[in-house]
Amino acid sequence: MINLLNFSQKQLAEYFASIGEKPFRAKQLMRWMHHFGVHDFNQMTDIAKSLREKLQLEAQITLPNVQLEQVSNDGTRKWLIGADVANSIETVFIPEDDRGTLCISSQIGCALACTFCSTGAQGFNRNLSVAEIIGQLAIANKSLRQEAGYDMLSANDRIISNVVMMGMGEPLTNYDNVVTAMQIMLDDSAYGLSRRRVTLSTSGIVPAMDKLKEDCPVALAVSLHAPNDTLRDEIVPINKKYPLKDLMAACNRYLEKAPRDFVTFEYVMLDGVNDTVEHAHELLQLVKYTPCKFNLIPFNPFPNSGYATSKPSHIKVFRDILMQAGYVVTVRKTRGDDIDAACGQLAGKVFDKTKRTINRIPIEAI
Ligand code: SAH
Ligand code: SF4
Repeated sequence: MINLLNFSQKQLAEYFASIGEKPFRAKQLMRWMHHFGVHDFNQMTDIAKSLREKLQLEAQITLPNVQLEQVSNDGTRKWLIGADVANSIETVFIPEDDRGTLCISSQIGCALACTFCSTGAQGFNRNLSVAEIIGQLAIANKSLRQEAGYDMLSANDRIISNVVMMGMGEPLTNYDNVVTAMQIMLDDSAYGLSRRRVTLSTSGIVPAMDKLKEDCPVALAVSLHAPNDTLRDEIVPINKKYPLKDLMAACNRYLEKAPRDFVTFEYVMLDGVNDTVEHAHELLQLVKYTPCKFNLIPFNPFPNSGYATSKPSHIKVFRDILMQAGYVVTVRKTRGDDIDAACGQLAGKVFDKTKRTINRIPIEAI
């Protein structure tokens, strides 16, 4: 059976054409599925009964199943979502005064093995499907709207105003599914989010960054974490394949098409590893020709990581050096750590097919 949640509006129109239906049906169906959260064909009142019957026979609208929903003391919410029998992923909602941000996963585990990341430490199982990626937004949207007492069928304020592709996985190594899911996020018949409010975070898959700027330019965050290749090779191993010189050039090319005129550089603060005054100055040299903002992320510990969070006084000194050079710098507040929902704590349940947790795979194999 075809799961219609896997289709963008364009693909849905192609599907309708293939079964002899008018392409405009795609728009109606997108509205029902995504805008109104209706998944029962019988309730789609403006779709001809004959078509509803046809769809019932060969298609379905199936969300992944929610295994657990947790709420943190600070209002952060986390959903544990089943991908299949052996695996689950996590999605996090972070409410703030002026926005509500949903952090979405793109893969079960991650093959890139950054040394400070608990998702990376779990190895890799598989890419998520479009339905599993957009399903996270659908599940969170419905649950939050119900909680707020909003009717799905009437227009109320948006609760989820921003999406960040910053959950489990490297979104650019699941390129096609992530791009289709983002097209659905941006589609006015579906979620209608602005490009500026959808952010993709990558550890720096250079060729995919170049492709993304043509296919679906959204706001870009790059996980830098180190100001030189020697250190970055060690903590973000994909750097051996796409070193900093190539990565910075790719950022500049991306900015030619990006909806925002800066890249956000994420920088995890690891005590004694990448957080000294010298590192801050080296970082300033590195980004000299790339319009950017910085997001410093205090390291969120997980068992056996071998790292500690930078001391608050060191984070402050580091931040001030960047700020004095004229940059906008935010220090990410740790949210939801009481329910393990903070950055890098998302683990879900990953059955590691690569056995990388025992045997690290070479970066060339990615
Ligand atoms: N794979 C993508 C997106 C997911 S990770 C990427 O790496 O960009 C989202 C952010 O959380 C990245 O910047 C990542 O480096 C950071 N992160 C990973 N582990 C972390 C940890 N333990 N503490 C704080 N941030 C972490
Ligand atoms: Fe993968 Fe991102 Fe974690 Fe690195 S930081 S292992 S790329 S999820």
